[in-house]
Formats: sequence, C-alpha cells, structure tokens
Amino acid sequence: MRAEMKDETQPSLNNGTFTQYFSTSRFSSLLATKDRDFLISPTGAQVKVADVEGKIVGLLFAANWYPPCRNFTQMLVDIYEELRKSISDFEIVYVSSDEDLDAFHSFYGHMPWLAIPFSDLETKKALNRKYDVEGIPCLVILQPNDNKEDSTLRDGAELIYRFGVRAYPFTKQRLEQLQMEERQKHENQTLTNLLTNHLRDYVPVACLVGKTIGLYFSAQWCVPCVKFTPKLISIYHKIKQSLGEKGEQQEDFEIVLISNDRDQQSFDSYFGSMPWLALPYGDSEIKKLARHFDVQGIPCLVIIGPNGKTITRHGRNLINLYQEDAYPFTDAKVEALEKQIEEEAKGLPRLVCHEGHRHDLNLVSDGNGGGPFICCVCDEQGSSWAYQCLECGYEVHPRCVATVDPDRRR
Ligand SMILES: [Zn+2]
Ligand SMILES: [Zn+2]
Repeated sequence: MRAEMKDETQPSLNNGTFTQYFSTSRFSSLLATKDRDFLISPTGAQVKVADVEGKIVGLLFAANWYPPCRNFTQMLVDIYEELRKSISDFEIVYVSSDEDLDAFHSFYGHMPWLAIPFSDLETKKALNRKYDVEGIPCLVILQPNDNKEDSTLRDGAELIYRFGVRAYPFTKQRLEQLQMEERQKHENQTLTNLLTNHLRDYVPVACLVGKTIGLYFSAQWCVPCVKFTPKLISIYHKIKQSLGEKGEQQEDFEIVLISNDRDQQSFDSYFGSMPWLALPYGDSEIKKLARHFDVQGIPCLVIIGPNGKTITRHGRNLINLYQEDAYPFTDAKVEALEKQIEEEAKGLPRLVCHEGHRHDLNLVSDGNGGGPFICCVCDEQGSSWAYQCLECGYEVHPRCVATVDPDRRR
C-alpha cells in the first residue's frame, strides 16, 4: 500500500492543460483528463468535475453482467436517494466495467448519480489500478480535501451492506462508532428486542423466550433457498421428534421465517409450505435483522440461544454437515460431533470401490488431502473426512459411499 501511495504523487492520469488546476483539486486529478473536465449525469448532461470538489465521493466499480452488482446497485440507489433528501455533500460516480456501450446505457439507466463516460477506458483503468479493485461491486469512498488519502475507505460496499444510511459520512471515526454500537447491540441482544412485533398468526414473542430459535432468512425467488427449505423442514421435524424422545419439550426449538419475498403472494405460497412461524410479509424489522446479523446471502439460518444471544450465523452449514445432530448448534456440540466423526473414521477402510465412480476412492481428511467439499452424491457440503478420487477429484461423504465389488462397477 505504501508503494502505491508514492505512485499517487506522479501525474499518472493527467498532464498538460489542467496541471495547475489539478494540483489543488483532488477529484479533478482522479476523474478528469486533459481533454475532459466533466462527468456525465443520468440525463446525459455534462457535469463539471469541479462541481464535486468538496463533497464526499463514492466511486462505484460495477458491471451489469454480474448479478451481485445489480443487487448492490439497487440497494445503493435507495440509500443514495434517502441521503440526498437532506444531504448535498455526497455524490457517487459510476466507474463501469460493462462490456459495451449498450450494456453501460442499460445499467447506468438505473442509477441516479454521475458516471465516467463509458468511452474513457484510460481513466477507468487507472482508477481500478489506483484503488486495487479486485472484485466488484466495489465502493471506494473519498473524503474531500484530504491529500494524504488516510481517510479513503475501500470497503464502502461492505459498509453499505452492514450499516446502510447510518454509514454516512463514511469516515473512519463514524465506522469505529458504528462498530462499537454493533458490539454493544450484540452483547445486549435479547429475543424480545430482536422480534419486537407479533409474529404472523399472532404468536407473542414472549412465548419464544428461553428457547433455541432459528431465524431463517429466505425467499421463494432464490433457487438455493427453495432447494434448502424442504431439507430444513425435514430436519426441523426430526429435531422435534428427538426432543420428544429424550423427554424434553418439543417447543424448545422453533424457526421463524424472515422472508425476503417480493410480494405478498409469493410470501403466502412460500410460507404456506413451512411448518414454523414467520415475521409478517414486509415487516419493518426484516431489514434491521438482516443488517444486525450481517446477512449477505440467502438462505441463511441464524441460531439464537435460550439466553437470547447469537449462537451461530452458520446454521445452514451445520444442518448440511450434521443434519438433526447439529441441534442445539453450540460450539460444544459441534466439537463433540467433530470428535465423533474422527472416531468413526478410524473404523473406515482406507480405500473403497464406490458404485458411482470408475476409480477407487481414498479416505482423506483435513490435514491429509481433504478439506471443505461438495459431495458428488448428495450435493451437500462436507468437511474433514471424505472419500476422494485422487485422479479426478471426485469426492463424497463417507455416509454417501455405496461400495460395490470392483468387477461390477459401472
Ligand atoms: Zn453426500
Ligand atoms: Zn476418478
């Protein structure tokens, strides 16, 4: 990073006509060239780069062909419009990685802020290089009148996901303050302050206090969600059944759907397939909860313990790895399960003939050629022990192996 800062003193983007002007105007040196002293606006009008001097400027690196950029941009539009209602010292400039002018126009058509002209490849490239942009969407936030760049934030996208409009004015101090508030909120978290409203079907939240609760962030338009839901339903019933068999209260475990569905009808049909509770469609708590738990992708299953504190945000992985045995999802339980698998693996053969694969499969573990994988039989995640084909990387759970006589293998 230090080497890069040195580079910034060199007039890499510009030279000539505007040099003297650039030396005092930070954004011009970044966003203009010797032939162009303007940005474009959504109406197609030219806006002088000088007009953004003195503002907080977010550089949005994105492209229409990458779905996460489209989602992020939609979120950013809402935040931008909300901020601009009361704040005029904030601007966003789109730095496009679209593949052609048509794609640029169609994507930029959804944005209410400024853009570097699509044709100016040089400036776009230089900005990407300068800010080390490795993945999109990326939002770099520049503070006005800061020549040392100490206050430039490169993880603006992360901040927007986590804090929304609260991230304004995007300074390091603001960020520290938000992080402290966040820590306090998690320390003081209770089920009642998470789910203050009534749940659908009017189950008072008070009835869930003291129980292990899964908050299931999901939506019917999301393919992985629709795939995971039936599995979660089956595991949910099995957990309840096993609580009953152990003489414990079946009500000690509950799931609450936190839906991200786009209309009441899809919510109704999706929730209609589920045996648990839900926050009402469109409830104002939903966005707050997603932020609170930093939910960046769905499906996501957050587990809240009987004391109201978060046990894990990775309930989905634990369900995939351990099915109903994952309950109650605590560190102690996961450790015990890992040990148990370790023990069971000791009794497994080193080499098997599996009916679904033409080569022999070797038993591998974390430290021994294995690691997190997707099982080729059941399509679910696995970790630690696996049977792996050393020739083609084919990998399956030990539980998914169907051994056959080597001669009868397909
Ligand atoms: Zn499997
Ligand atoms: Zn193979």
